Amino acid sequence: MTSKIAVLGSTGSIGTQTLEVAQMHHIQVTALTANKNIRLLEQQVRQFHPKMVCVMDMGAAAQLKIALRDLPVEVYCGEEGILRAAAESDADMVVNAIVGVAGLFPTLAAIRAGKNIALANKETLVAGGSLVMKEIKSRGVKLYPVDSEHSAIFQCLQGCPEKALKKVILTASGGSFYGKKKSELENVSIKQALTHPNWSMGAKITVDSSTMMNKGLEVIEASWLFGCSDEQIDVVIHRESIIHSMIELEDNAIIAQLGVPDMKIPIQYALTYPQRLPSPSKELDLTEIGALHFSKPDDETFPCLGICRQALRLGGVYPAVANAANEAAVELFLAGRIKFTDIGEIVGNAVSSFRWEEETVTLDSITAADKETRAKIKAYY
Ligand code: NDP
Ligand code: MG
Repeated sequence: MTSKIAVLGSTGSIGTQTLEVAQMHHIQVTALTANKNIRLLEQQVRQFHPKMVCVMDMGAAAQLKIALRDLPVEVYCGEEGILRAAAESDADMVVNAIVGVAGLFPTLAAIRAGKNIALANKETLVAGGSLVMKEIKSRGVKLYPVDSEHSAIFQCLQGCPEKALKKVILTASGGSFYGKKKSELENVSIKQALTHPNWSMGAKITVDSSTMMNKGLEVIEASWLFGCSDEQIDVVIHRESIIHSMIELEDNAIIAQLGVPDMKIPIQYALTYPQRLPSPSKELDLTEIGALHFSKPDDETFPCLGICRQALRLGGVYPAVANAANEAAVELFLAGRIKFTDIGEIVGNAVSSFRWEEETVTLDSITAADKETRAKIKAYY
């Protein structure tokens, strides 16, 4: 089990829950990072005593440095600082809880420094899956999924013979607007899109859940983690979010992982693997739930899942394009500049209009595709 962790994105939803788990199991914290929330970061530093911290925003970093002058902690800032926090502390595991593709470079830096990874930042694998998996293999480090569905699959796979896996079945809550038709989605508000039925999460992933983009990103994430093709990854709507995902084996046996919807369970499993320790989360009472329901996703009303599947089949940098378009579109939606239904349209147009004819994916080609996609959207809106 891990004894020292660096937490990138420690002030967010996953980051704060990771620190709760670390505290409960006396796991030492060696580095913490945030974008700009220095109030919370300062409290975390005083509680967990990391050796280094990083804030992306330069002004915020300068303020934090002053606030922490009584402590022996190094304060870094910006791109270079976050790479140092990922690679240079004496953590044996880096928990990546950054939101967005901004997490890709720190993930690669941590792997190259020989750190195991607990990955919540799914955009890392969506945009850079081929590079990340190659580095993981060549450096001999381990990558543990934190995303609840992928943690569920990883848990189900324990003890399964290699090659027995036929397919994975990702469950989806359906998000805030499950059951609605396209016409009803035209004028939904930001607040409605940010109200998730089962999970309390950061703003971006909550919007992604309500567009079903989150499930599309997760299909791509699963393809890299478990070596599955698009056809081997099913998605079922399961409103209760009690079954976190399933695997189907060659003999048609299905194995599922269940639990209350609480991210501290998959976070803890990544941190303490292969051990099973007491959890700060609640026990699941199935009699209280009563019934579990399943249905097919509505791909017509929520096009993002299908677009991600298309990007996965196209391969190359197309998943990075879908991701960049979505990040740009969600930002526009949260700023009140586009309608909810524009998100799917923007992501679809970005993928279908992108031209990529190179043979191999490189970090440069991913960065260029990401930039080009964002620039096109920015120029239009
Ligand atoms: P939050 O928005 O709650 O937190 C994001 C964290 O990243 C914060 O610490 C934030 O700092 C920091 N951050 C934001 N932008 C940047 C940037 N450009 N560079 C470096 N750091 C940055 O997100 P969540 O915790 O909800 O999600 C984190 C990741 O985990 C996402 O990839 C999400 O898809 C995934 N995930 C989340 C789940 C959840 O339950 N929340 C479930 C499964 C996966 P600051 O606070 O200063 O803004
Ligand atoms: Mg998930």
